[in-house]
Amino acid sequence: MHVVKTLSEIRELRRQLNSSVGLVPTMGYLHEGHLALVRQARAETSTVIVSIYVNPTQFSPSEDFKVYPRDLSRDLELLEGEKTDIVFVPPDEEMYPTGFSSWVDVEKVTEWLEGASRPGHFRGVATVCAKLFNIVQPARAYFGQKDAQQVIVMKRMVADLNMNLEIVVVPTVRESDGLAVSSRNIYLEAEGRQAATVLFTALSLAKQLWQDGEKDADKIRQQMIWHIQKEALAQIDYVSIADSSTLEELKHIDSPAVASLAVRIGKARLIDNIALG
Ligand code: AMP
Repeated sequence: MHVVKTLSEIRELRRQLNSSVGLVPTMGYLHEGHLALVRQARAETSTVIVSIYVNPTQFSPSEDFKVYPRDLSRDLELLEGEKTDIVFVPPDEEMYPTGFSSWVDVEKVTEWLEGASRPGHFRGVATVCAKLFNIVQPARAYFGQKDAQQVIVMKRMVADLNMNLEIVVVPTVRESDGLAVSSRNIYLEAEGRQAATVLFTALSLAKQLWQDGEKDADKIRQQMIWHIQKEALAQIDYVSIADSSTLEELKHIDSPAVASLAVRIGKARLIDNIALG
């Protein structure tokens, strides 16, 4: 496994490959969710490249960039175990050298949900992913369904800017009690960890109501809100029932939809989603 830090090294390695490349962009502190992406890339492409980069431009000044968990030696061990070919770990000076001033802004789909709660977040995500796609030139890039809006932003960007790769979406990996695995779960203390199951139970409730024939999105949202409010440690950021291809809020569910939410529990801000159809 090659561990490379500079653009010149990764470009040189990339030049030597004429096989299909799968890219898995991550911010490190790897867990089973990330490893599911790596395993799928391993099964579908000949060369697997994983990037580990805590991208400063997708965090607002009030967010957790400085304290975001990092453990490179453990990450490298896990990636070695998955037979990763190349790990790209660029320092900030490589990604954002002095004078950097070009950005990718995906409009519309970034106006609501995570985009509304975290202004500038998707501009940072789209820009760093566009850079990684240009550097690595993958045939496929792997993203988790857990970040549903990120997937839609990626697909939009790739289509709009004619980028020559496929975005592959991997199902959300969960703990046995349903909590979506996340690097940010480390912020949960014991009580908060127990309370955090409320995200999945609220999503499961939405799915159950929908399966039982409820098609009024307001009614499902309201039931989810009441359910979450019963958990004293949980503070709702948003609860959404939206069209699954645009994430626009729905009044009536008559096409494939997704229920999604963002909830704060202590220091952790957690997001999750479930498909309705
Ligand atoms: P992150 O390191 O949090 O930026 O995540 C890197 C990639 O892993 C993103 O495409 C995430 O959607 C994906 N990911 C994170 N958690 C999970 C999970 N529990 N299941 C599947 N994919 C995940």
